[in-house]
Amino acid sequence: MISNADYFQGKQDKESELAPTIQGLRDALEQAQSKLRMNSVFLSHRQCRIEQLEKQVYLAGHWLCPKCKFYLVSTNLHVPSGGFSANKEPQACANGCGPMWRVTHEQSANNTVDRCDKMQDVIFAAREALLQSHCPHADSNIAMIPARKIGNAINALETAGP
Ligand SMILES: [Zn+2]
Repeated sequence: MISNADYFQGKQDKESELAPTIQGLRDALEQAQSKLRMNSVFLSHRQCRIEQLEKQVYLAGHWLCPKCKFYLVSTNLHVPSGGFSANKEPQACANGCGPMWRVTHEQSANNTVDRCDKMQDVIFAAREALLQSHCPHADSNIAMIPARKIGNAINALETAGP
C-alpha cells in the first residue's frame, strides 16, 4: 500500500524528471510556430508576386478553346459605375468542347503575326488577280490602282476561298 506522501513524492519526482522533456517540447513548438508564421508571410508575398506575373503573362479576359480554336474576349459590365473589367472566371467553350485556356501575350502576338501574314497573302493574290485581269493601271504600281478595285478583288478572292 502506497501512502499519500509517497504517492505525491513519486509524482513530484516524475514531474521533475519529465520537466526538461516538456520544456524541450514547448521550445520546439514555439520554434515551429515561429517558422510557420514566417512561412505564412513568405507564402503571402509569393502569391502576390504570382498574381503580378500572371498579369504580365496572360491577357486578362481572353480565352481560347484548345479543340475548336474558338476565341473569346469576356468582360464584366459594372452597372453602378458603368465601368468594364476583364472577366477572369474560367470559361467553357460555346461549342461544347469543354473548358477554355487562358491566352498568353506571346500567343496573342503570334496570332497577330499569323493574321498579318494571311492578309498580306490576300493582298498579293489580289494584286496578281488585278494584273491578270487587264487592269490598265496594274502593270506599274499597285498604289495607282483605285482602292475600290482592290477591295472588289479581295472580296472576290475571299468569296472564292483558299
Ligand atoms: Zn471549342
